[in-house]
Amino acid sequence: MVRSIRVKHCVRCSQPAPTLFRVKYEEDGGWVFVCPHCWPQISENNSFYIYGGTWKAEKKKN
Ligand SMILES: [Zn+2]
Repeated sequence: MVRSIRVKHCVRCSQPAPTLFRVKYEEDGGWVFVCPHCWPQISENNSFYIYGGTWKAEKKKN
């Protein structure tokens, strides 16, 4: 059996994480995903920072 595990990698540290934040942090940059560890580093004192939501590997069923 093959489980389909959705994995995204942080754009900063290239590590996979179960929860990532969808953000923009460059003036002309696109949407990228960063892990909670790197998030403060790209968001602090960054006027280009835009928060676009939280991505989770495991979605809860309603
Ligand atoms: Zn990271």
